[in-house]
Amino acid sequence: MTPVYLALGSNLDDPAMQLHAALVELAALPHCRIVAASSAYRSAAIGPGNQADYLNAVLMLNTSLSAVELLSATQAIEIKRGRVRSERWAARTLDIDILLFGDEIINTTTLQVPHPRMAERNFVLYPLAEIANHKMVLPSMGVLGSLLAKCPRGDLVKTNVSLRNLADSK
Ligand code: ADP
Ligand code: MG
Repeated sequence: MTPVYLALGSNLDDPAMQLHAALVELAALPHCRIVAASSAYRSAAIGPGNQADYLNAVLMLNTSLSAVELLSATQAIEIKRGRVRSERWAARTLDIDILLFGDEIINTTTLQVPHPRMAERNFVLYPLAEIANHKMVLPSMGVLGSLLAKCPRGDLVKTNVSLRNLADSK
């Protein structure tokens, strides 16, 4: 089994509900077991136009799927939740990104792991730090605690929406 960290994000159609639905769908995937889930964090959108705030969370799961198989499964869940791919960084019902896949470094056109922009995203690092050891080494990026120290919290707010209870019941 490979330990995997996934980032979830939504800013359309009831984001808290979308994150819960994503967790339920991920928990139902074959060869995957959810181990931990962070709280949901709220922040202003960085994408184009006047977009609603985002809710983001990070999950840890163990899987015997390959990274490519997991990406297909997470993309199928995004589509099922009504994700429409338009311009880059457009508003979305559900985004699921593979942050880390064990200690693998993957650099293909369809999949880059560790996720190339994760080290500068407060809405990824803060929820990740809630469920992962700060001494964890991110392949080619460094120690989580050091990345966190260099990443301002900004407008990020930890909400009382927790996916943990739902994860525990699985
Ligand atoms: P973004 O998450 O950057 O807003 P999308 O969710 O629309 O963009 O993803 C665009 C493409 O990113 C996907 O089709 C997928 O092939 C690719 N991709 C590359 N690396 C990853 C990763 N680590 N996790 C998820 N998707 C990835
Ligand atoms: Mg994505």
